[in-house]
Amino acid sequence: MSFSSECKNELCLIKPEKSCCLISELCALYMTMGSLSLLGRGKVNVQFSGENITVCRRIYTLLTQALHLAPQIHYVSNARFGGTRKCVLTLGPLQSPSFLIALRMMTDEKDGAVMLRSTTPKVSLTRSCCMRAFLRGAMLGGGSITKPEQGYHLEISCRDDSIREDLAKCLQKFDLPIKQSARKGHGYLYLKQIDHIVTFLKVVGANQTVMEIENLRVQRQVLGSVHRMINCDNANLRKQMNASDEQLRMIAELAENDGLKGLPKSLQEMAAARLNAPDASLAQLGEAMNPPIGKSGVNHRMRRLLEYAENKKKETL
Ligand SMILES: [Zn+2]
Repeated sequence: MSFSSECKNELCLIKPEKSCCLISELCALYMTMGSLSLLGRGKVNVQFSGENITVCRRIYTLLTQALHLAPQIHYVSNARFGGTRKCVLTLGPLQSPSFLIALRMMTDEKDGAVMLRSTTPKVSLTRSCCMRAFLRGAMLGGGSITKPEQGYHLEISCRDDSIREDLAKCLQKFDLPIKQSARKGHGYLYLKQIDHIVTFLKVVGANQTVMEIENLRVQRQVLGSVHRMINCDNANLRKQMNASDEQLRMIAELAENDGLKGLPKSLQEMAAARLNAPDASLAQLGEAMNPPIGKSGVNHRMRRLLEYAENKKKETL
């Protein structure tokens, strides 16, 4: 199952309670999956269609719960698209007006007739509960989210300006950026930053999905710091090796010029210790001395050795 489907399945488990939120979510689902057809003589037909069966079941539940409407369900297979099966929910001419009145697309006239006033919903999104529900509906109907292992990207497709404006309003309410782009002529709003995606998912109630993303983020951070530590260790090791090479070269030069014999005993010991252990760190060299000395002691003796070697070199020139 894709990450998007997992996220949508989670959203479909949320139980909307307030009737205002039921309508807001239905509104976004209609704006992303719904269509309206005019049958003549003022009769209309409302349909929802989508490939995600769980989302379609959600629409059915919301319609029943909010408006006591029971749409007809049928499936269509499209051979052209590799046999993908679509679920279609239909509200016939008798049920559609109630739905369209709830979305303020139709009005109830005094004489009992209904009148189509708008082809897009006019639901007022002022309460924060309804804005959350609207965003959830839009995510269910037109949203997709990339698997976090493959990068951070969440988008909601916008079929027209009206849903784009409503989405922008809701995103703004939760301090989320409004970024839009288009692909093959279809516009969409998207979020790219992990913090924004997490905020959005929390707003719509996908807490399980948030946890999955957060866990992966922690794993990545730990891995990152381990890599940094390894790189740092490597750099220190390289530095240590370079210093050791330099010391070995100097000691070899001294030995060539018979200079080792003239050294004080402590420096002779130091030179011998380095020759015996070319890879040892200064601290390890110090431990090998008798009696053992600290790192700074070793450093001091190495410096004296170097000075001595340089003086000796000048003498021989
Ligand atoms: Zn509400």
